[in-house]
Amino acid sequence: MTADCLFCRIVAGEIPADVVHETDVTLAFRDINPQAPTHVIVVPRAHHPNVATMAEADPVLAAAVLRAAGEIAVAEGLTEPGYRLVFNTGAGAGQSVFHVHCHVLGGRPLAWPPG
Ligand code: 5GP
Ligand code: ZN
Repeated sequence: MTADCLFCRIVAGEIPADVVHETDVTLAFRDINPQAPTHVIVVPRAHHPNVATMAEADPVLAAAVLRAAGEIAVAEGLTEPGYRLVFNTGAGAGQSVFHVHCHVLGGRPLAWPPG
């Protein structure tokens, strides 16, 4: 656990979250400020700052995050017509929590390109 990391604290159970999926290496919970009818955040339990550093340090863990996201999409009924997985990477791209997380978004039409 990294001190002062919001998502490490959620993983540790110090901050409550609406958990929808978990494995031994991942945790997923509903976003507190949802941007779509379904908006779930998937995190690895281990702290990595962003998706690139996670993939470099532990590609098996990166795969586990993606697998969890796919299972959540099925469980939430998002596979038709589709859904979006987002890893905001860097403050300029909207990353505000520097513990890697995959946004699972669906349940409404999703425009492209994103804003
Ligand atoms: P980012 O902006 O880093 O890509 O995504 C961070 C996400 O975490 C945001 O969508 C934000 O709404 C969500 N978030 C921030 N604080 C909390 C919290 O305490 N609980 C939950 N469930 N989500 C949070
Ligand atoms: Zn963390």
